[in-house]
Amino acid sequence: MVRMGEFEQLARTYISQMVEMGERLIFLERSRPETDEMKVLMEEVRSCKRCPLHSSRRNSVFGEGSREAEVMFVGEAPGREEDLKGRPFVGAAGELLTKMIGAMGLKRSDVYIANVLKCRPPGNRDPLGSEVEACCDYLFKQIDLIGPKVICGLGSHASMTLLDTTSPISRLRGKVHRIGSAMFVPTYHPAALLRNPRWKRHAWEDLKLVLRLLDSETESVTEE
Ligand code: SF4
Repeated sequence: MVRMGEFEQLARTYISQMVEMGERLIFLERSRPETDEMKVLMEEVRSCKRCPLHSSRRNSVFGEGSREAEVMFVGEAPGREEDLKGRPFVGAAGELLTKMIGAMGLKRSDVYIANVLKCRPPGNRDPLGSEVEACCDYLFKQIDLIGPKVICGLGSHASMTLLDTTSPISRLRGKVHRIGSAMFVPTYHPAALLRNPRWKRHAWEDLKLVLRLLDSETESVTEE
């Protein structure tokens, strides 16, 4: 029969072996505070009044998906459906994005989906510079917490904001850019693809580039 002192000793030995072998405990140690930080950030966004968009929103749209996602999709701002449901990309454009993710052999729950703005601009107008300035810090914190290998920018606004450039999407897409330690691939917004189906071919090329980046060593595929 194992006495209490012996049991504690056995438990300590087992834990130290686990720590030496490693990774699982280390992973849990690391992931716990990240999860909490994400929840804190989510609550901050829920009650945010940093810009006037808070007064017209029904719901803020924080973002959703896997906290361990290797790929993150970033759009411009919530639309009507997203504002109603408090979830990103759930309207017609969202259905197309879900199909695009499926065509990559992934599920929405495998990736993380967010927008630059967390509240809907009235009438789906373009975001104002002041709104982006007030809000984009939330997105950068999400990127930090998730640490994706590849970020796919959806549309001009998201891509131009994240790359801090005035170049249009037609010049940005098809190339690999960098945002911190993540590789960044801009492509057309699904709403633009619904209006211009002939661009779907280019978008698919961009998604295949994302897949190649996910499968490859970072340095060997950077095209900038
Ligand atoms: S858009 Fe962003 S900064 Fe403006 S109120 Fe919503 S969460 Fe806050």
